[in-house]
Amino acid sequence: MPVSKNKIRLPSMTPGTARSIAWLRFGRAGARPKVYIQAAIHANELPGAMALHHLMPMLVQADRARRIKGEIIVVPTVNPIGQSQLVGNSHLGRYDLLSRDNFNRNWLDLSGAVALQVGDKLSRDTAANVDLIRKAALAALKAMKPANELQTMRVEIMKLAIDADVVLDLHCDMDAALHLFTAAPDLKGAAQEVAAELGVQATLYNEPFAESLTFSGVNGGLWPRLAARFPGAAIPQACFSCTVELRSQHQVSDALGASDGANLYRYLVRRGVLAGRSGPLPRLKSAPTPISGMDVGYCPVAGFIVYRLAAGAKVQRGDVVCEIIDPADPRGPKARKPMRSRTDGMLFSRKRDGGLAWPGMVAYRIAGAKPLAHRKGMSGLDD
Ligand SMILES: [Zn+2]
Repeated sequence: MPVSKNKIRLPSMTPGTARSIAWLRFGRAGARPKVYIQAAIHANELPGAMALHHLMPMLVQADRARRIKGEIIVVPTVNPIGQSQLVGNSHLGRYDLLSRDNFNRNWLDLSGAVALQVGDKLSRDTAANVDLIRKAALAALKAMKPANELQTMRVEIMKLAIDADVVLDLHCDMDAALHLFTAAPDLKGAAQEVAAELGVQATLYNEPFAESLTFSGVNGGLWPRLAARFPGAAIPQACFSCTVELRSQHQVSDALGASDGANLYRYLVRRGVLAGRSGPLPRLKSAPTPISGMDVGYCPVAGFIVYRLAAGAKVQRGDVVCEIIDPADPRGPKARKPMRSRTDGMLFSRKRDGGLAWPGMVAYRIAGAKPLAHRKGMSGLDD
């Protein structure tokens, strides 16, 4: 089966301009398991594109050797709107400039539309329910009439992903250790496999699933949302989805891309999408921790930021993670406002040294095992 290269054309938003999304299919349409992998929803996050750049030739090889058993959809840079955001020699790419929407929020929760279609047809037959729900989800997407470029992108991309068994959304952070976000029910199986194969340093999980409408959240969350609506029906977690944060924005190299690509390939073998032997699962580098145990440091004042700790550092409660310096304060040490960890854990995400800091800015995130009272009811997604 030759590799198929495809293009989604997005509607023009201004006279004389139009964008499109390139995507590739490896293996046969409809074969199982189906894995969907995309990178760069936040368009200035390209470590995932580098990993896919190294993975794709391996898939071409696998295809030639007839080793592809399932279907693999790859979208190397999913967001051409963000790719085009060149402003004054800077590439933006995190927010849609027209709607001011974060590109990884407000994806489509299809559970309501699917429930309307399948509610009276669901049964105790798990396989039949999965089939019914996937078809209804695709039908709901086909029935949509998106009004603009961003909505068209969301609808068309979800058509490629919503019936997948596995959805991997590749991101990165500004300065971060390799980590991933997933949902609690997947921890023992699918998430552990991805985390171990990729060698992640922190796995954070939502309980019971991601309420937020991130790309990963809507694909994986469809199933528990429907299961909650129809407790009498047998509705499994038929899609494992996760957000993989491939370290820092600036950490794009052939060495990392080659190892990430090889790790993704091994994961695909382990999942049975590719023929081959995956060998023993590598040991997890750290135990998963709940989102409720994630400490988030919000800058208290304006200034510029310097860190005392590198991404990946272990921290104790009370440790100074970073300081905000008031540039006009002449008192030396007193011009510095320290920010201290409020948990024991691992500093997995931070900003760059020397950046401007403003009140409320997220300065860092720490993965801790214990749920934190001060985080109760707060979103894990505040920037
Ligand atoms: Zn991102």
